[in-house]
Parts: sequence; C-alpha cells; structure tokens
Amino acid sequence: MKKLVVITGASSGIGKATAIRMSEAGHPLLLLARRIENLEALNLPNMLCRKVDVTDLNSFQAAVDEAEKIYGPADLLINNAGVMLLGNIATQDSTEWQQMLNINVMGVLNGVKTVLGKMIARNEGTIINLSSIAGRKTFPDHAAYCASKFAVHALTENIRGEVAGHNVRMTVIAPGVVETELLSHTTDSTIVDNYKNWKASTIKQGLNPDDIARAIEYAYSQPQNVCIREIVIADTRQD
Ligand code: NDP
Repeated sequence: MKKLVVITGASSGIGKATAIRMSEAGHPLLLLARRIENLEALNLPNMLCRKVDVTDLNSFQAAVDEAEKIYGPADLLINNAGVMLLGNIATQDSTEWQQMLNINVMGVLNGVKTVLGKMIARNEGTIINLSSIAGRKTFPDHAAYCASKFAVHALTENIRGEVAGHNVRMTVIAPGVVETELLSHTTDSTIVDNYKNWKASTIKQGLNPDDIARAIEYAYSQPQNVCIREIVIADTRQD
C-alpha cells in the first residue's frame, strides 16, 4: 500500500476532488472536516474519516495519531480547509475576520504541527498548503481573506526554508476561481452579486476542483529531492 495522505476540508470542493484522486493513486487517507457525513459518503478504500475542526489542535492531532497507527506515518498533509467571508472592513462583522484567520491561518499552522516533527525525524515528507491568487494580489472586499492567504504564502515559505535541510517539502498552491461552495458563505449579498457579475463578464466559469487536485498530485508525485515551491493556477481568462 502507498503512504498515508491527510486532507483537511475533504467534505466538498477541492479537498473532495483531491481525496478521490489520491485514493485512485492508491493512498490510504485520513479525511477531516466538520461535516463527517460528507466524508463518509465518499466511501473510498482505506479511508479513515474524523470530524475535526482544524482550529482545534488536540482533536486534529488525535486524528492524525489514530490514522498513523493504522496506516503508518503521514507522508503528505494537504492543508486545504478554508473559508472565504468577503466583506468591507468598515461594515463587516469582526467575528467573520476572526473566523477566517482562525481557520485559514491557525488551522494551517495546527496542521503543520501535527506532522512536522515526525517528518523531520524521518527525513521525509510533504506538506501542501492551499492559498489563493488572493494570497498574491488584492481584490475589492477581500481584505481579511487576502490577509489570511498572504499569511499562508508567508508561513509556507518560512517553514520551507527551516525544514529544507531535513528533506521535507513545503508547497503552496494558489488557485484562481474554482467552482465550489466557497463563495456561498459570504453573508453580504451585494458583494456576492458583484463577484458573480465580475466572473460572468471575465472568465465565465471557474476551474473544476479536479483541475486543482491534478496540480496537487503533480507537486506531490515529483521525486522527494524535487520541491515544487509554488503553483499559481487559474482560468486562462482570469487577470
Ligand atoms: P469549499 O467551501 O467547497 O470547501 C471548504 C472545505 O473546508 C470544506 O470541506 C469545509 O468542510 C472545510 N472547512 C471549513 N472550515 C473548516 C474547519 N473549521 N475545520 C475543518 N474543515 C473546515 O471550498 P473550496 O474547495 O474552494 O476551498 C478549499 C481551499 O481552496 C480553501 O482553503 C480556499 O480558500 C481555497 N481556494 C479556493 C478557491 C475557489 O475559488 N474555490 C480559490 C482559491 C483558493 P466542513 O464545512 O464540512 O467543515
């Protein structure tokens, strides 16, 4: 059997597509999200599903430890879980920023902490963090989301340098618009309409989740001495 892959936010969108692709490649999986019923519905072979909120380090660590007892050391962690609550800072409820920063930044750091020590000890392993084009450039009403995703770029590159000598790879994947549930959590209907109008007048439609899953698989499937540090991937028509 191939090595254990851990995926956060596998209950929909990019995480779900990546779980299916990694399973087809023969990997046992630890799948994490809050909607465990969506994880279990995937019904993939050699799959352990646990209801974990990535902001809770203890339950995250317990799930990883449990999966490693069954399938051996985690060789790949995909920190994919994230939320996008677009808003204008002057009017947006600050609890939305806190939620985004907790999930998109603290959740990623928690994930790194659950596996990094053991990867360093084994001199092998890969962590892939999902950022966004919004982690490279700014957009209207994206201030807190951009802050969270710029942070994902920064922490990934910082840790990459720290663990490079231990043969551990750190990769950041930065997608443009992808057709998933992501926009549905934004509460400001005007901002949602603006986003949809911009999309309709430019790219028409975002990428498929599996387009991103293929990029993840590409980065991971390189030999261990080849580290794809960053992939920015978007519809050809997206600026
Ligand atoms: P979805 O909304 O479809 O998926 C988000 C996933 O994150 C869900 O599985 C959700 O599961 C999980 N999640 C959210 N909060 C938590 C939490 N606290 N603990 C555990 N899991 C959580 O969106 P995408 O697939 O698009 O998003 C995946 C990643 O890709 C995100 O990091 C997003 O920022 C990034 N991205 C997406 C883009 C897009 O256009 N779609 C563009 C650029 C980046 P559950 O609710 O069951 O917990």
